[in-house]
Amino acid sequence: MLKTTLAGSLPKPLWLAEPERLWAPWKLEGEALAQGKLDATILAIKRQEDAGLDIVGDGEQARSHFVHGFLANVGGIDFENKKTIGIRNDRYKADCPNVIGPIVRTGSVHSAEARATRAHTRKTLKFTLPGPMTLVDTLADDYYGDRAKMAFAFAEALNEEALELEALGVDIIQFDEPAWNVYMSLVSEWGLPALERAKQGLKCKTAVHICYGYGIKANNDWKASLGMEWRQYEDTLPHIAKSSLDMVSLECRNSKVPIELIGLLKGKDVMVGCIDVATDEIETPEDVAATIRAAMNYVPPEKFFPATNCGMAPMNIDVAYGKLASLAQGAAIVRKELGGS
Ligand code: ZN
Repeated sequence: MLKTTLAGSLPKPLWLAEPERLWAPWKLEGEALAQGKLDATILAIKRQEDAGLDIVGDGEQARSHFVHGFLANVGGIDFENKKTIGIRNDRYKADCPNVIGPIVRTGSVHSAEARATRAHTRKTLKFTLPGPMTLVDTLADDYYGDRAKMAFAFAEALNEEALELEALGVDIIQFDEPAWNVYMSLVSEWGLPALERAKQGLKCKTAVHICYGYGIKANNDWKASLGMEWRQYEDTLPHIAKSSLDMVSLECRNSKVPIELIGLLKGKDVMVGCIDVATDEIETPEDVAATIRAAMNYVPPEKFFPATNCGMAPMNIDVAYGKLASLAQGAAIVRKELGGS
């Protein structure tokens, strides 16, 4: 019970990419970059194990960004002529590749990292992929002209990739959908149906991660505008509770989400965010334990997975791993209180 895990991304080593920024440029090229990505992936696994996590991941060390990383082997996309568009309902501007033809997966995207991680850990292995709605929201589109249609095209490509990751020994496939906290009414309309298509045929556990974003200024400003109570989950969690997804990853630590909302996920495994990724202050194990205790009123321990609020890619690397160690230690405190180990 109370098995700990991370949302997804981790900071990359200094020799691989520029630190503490999103879409950080790589410092290596060609063969050296390909090898460097795998070396960093194996290092991330080792450091997660040392921090004491129970469920580990690739830390997204081989991806420039959690969305655009998936596009490496996807056809129909123009990377040369990026367009600046407003994403997450115009919360911030980003230079995004442009969809100019049918979306088709032309080959494996993450098989190298999946093999490397599986070869180097016996722990439960979780792998993240962007969800269809978030993909659609992070791309310019000169081809489909219909977001739902484009989401289903991506869902097919994601499904091919997910099936391959499962075959390589991945235990949990998590789809990241921060866009679900922005376009709440579209989740039941086509967001969740597209995600169901993306997970079709998978026998491993499947998860969705819904958050308030990385700890970057645009997101922090947005959060400040959301008022005293963040009730976005109230619209979407009842639909997710009825879906075929096994697990849901939510933001809880230092957030204004009323904690009782996670009770809407009855029957699901819940990855409860106990680590704030928007501050460099490292939570103490006791801070983590307090968050777990509060949330445990709504999620039973066997369905409770203490986690981070969101990815940690833009953070200082020592802060990030320090937070993971506190997460594991905090969960251990509560486990002991419950008489478990
Ligand atoms: Zn997130």
